[in-house]
Amino acid sequence: MTSKDQKPTTNDAGIPVASDEHSLTIGPDGPIVLHDHYLIEQMANFNRERIPERQPHAKGGGAFGYFETTEDVSQYTKAAVFQKGTKTDLVIRFSSVAGERGSPDTWRDPRGFAVKFYTSEGNYDMVGNNTPVFFVRDPMKFQHFIRSQKRRADTNLRDHDMQWDFWSLSPESAHQVTWLMGDRGIPKTWRHMNGYSSHTYMWVNAQGEKFWVKYHFKTDQGIECLTQEDADRLAGEDGDYHTRDLYEAIERGDHPSWTLYMQIMPFRDAETYRFNPFDLTKVWPHDDYPLTKVGRLVLNRNPTDYHTEIEQAAFEPNNLVPGIGISPDKMLLGRVFSYADAHRARLGVNYKQIPVNSPKAPVHAYTKDGAMRVQNATDPVYAPNSKGGPVADGERYPTDSTWETSGDMVRAAYKLRKDDDDFGQANALINQVMDQAARDRLVSNVVGHIKGGVKEPVLSRALDYWKKIDAEVGARIEQGVKQS
Ligand code: NDP
Repeated sequence: MTSKDQKPTTNDAGIPVASDEHSLTIGPDGPIVLHDHYLIEQMANFNRERIPERQPHAKGGGAFGYFETTEDVSQYTKAAVFQKGTKTDLVIRFSSVAGERGSPDTWRDPRGFAVKFYTSEGNYDMVGNNTPVFFVRDPMKFQHFIRSQKRRADTNLRDHDMQWDFWSLSPESAHQVTWLMGDRGIPKTWRHMNGYSSHTYMWVNAQGEKFWVKYHFKTDQGIECLTQEDADRLAGEDGDYHTRDLYEAIERGDHPSWTLYMQIMPFRDAETYRFNPFDLTKVWPHDDYPLTKVGRLVLNRNPTDYHTEIEQAAFEPNNLVPGIGISPDKMLLGRVFSYADAHRARLGVNYKQIPVNSPKAPVHAYTKDGAMRVQNATDPVYAPNSKGGPVADGERYPTDSTWETSGDMVRAAYKLRKDDDDFGQANALINQVMDQAARDRLVSNVVGHIKGGVKEPVLSRALDYWKKIDAEVGARIEQGVKQS
């Protein structure tokens, strides 16, 4: 019997059902009849609950909040979202990279830091990480890199030998690997880590002036990290430690926030800067390009349905709004194709009509039809037309986030500049940023990781890789690995 304030169960068509417990049978002990369509609806829905997980960044969590621009940066960008005083709703998703949807939150791994701003000019997505650099600089290598971090074909096991094989044959990974093996390779929680665009983007102001920029979302909770030992323990005790922490913090009203700072490079500097500023394996030193404050990101609302609001959230670096563009960073150029393609494969062509992905700005698009479309297309459905349909306004929204380029088509690495090398910034991280205790933890983390299954000939190459990063740290790692 239902109490007066309990709603009656219905099926998906809204029709009240007679029982939450009993199938329709021939007598209480008899067989179930095929026309128990309510039972069948329940079983059929259950069988289809899972959708393909993301490849990579499968495990994650997220929340809703807002971004408030507190400073005047209109001299650098005309983007509505970054005009002083503007408050914009957003959704964020944090994630780890290599593990599957059920993997422990505390494995050593970079973390995704993906933000969708529902701006008045359409959705703007900043699909960043908690690290300012990345392992590779050409999208041709990305797929191979991720496969080396996931599972072998034969055993279906993750394999440190495979990971170090890839890294030691890809010296451009040295900076990110050093970062990953250091303290920040395992954040205490998602609230206690920074978010970086890592890539260089372009900002364009109302006068059409262009700037190269990098985003730094600095945590207002302070940076805190887990030791390898604590992370290993938590992986067993509470695999969802980061997911739980974020949810509970927001539930108790402890709303996490980040302050956004930008590094801003005048457009022409890029031509003569001492290393290629678009190389994703390098940071721009703060001494050369200091941080400019922009505003504050606050998370204040949990999802009520993880699946519809977080699992189906689709972030894509090609969601750019007027005043923001991309750069010649080859990884970014690859990503502006790959993310939308991944969403079409995982969620279907009309994924932008899922409420979490729908812009709050009006949509006047010429797309139509396709599976699971729920918003009506309106006539006319073609352009040009003489029927009053939308017209692209190139004067108000010019193609202005551009750069000049020329040359023969080649398959080649970036042209080297004076200070382009693979190991220098990794060495600076070890010697100028880490203190002795942090260096000791780095050595211990690397020794433990290499001892977890790295064999010759990869072993010698991995030790040589570390000696190239830093002679002393390299020697200590070799000593640690060889002492059994
Ligand atoms: P700075 O001394 O100006 O900045 C050092 C940066 O390192 C700070 O942003 C700091 O973050 C961060 N940091 C501190 N400890 C660690 C750690 N264990 N792992 C990773 N990052 C850490 O130096 P530069 O700008 O000249 O850069 C020197 C090196 O610092 C780089 O080679 C790079 O590895 C690292 N770094 C640089 C960043 C940049 O954008 N320039 C960003 C992050 C790291 P915080 O201020 O939050 O404490």
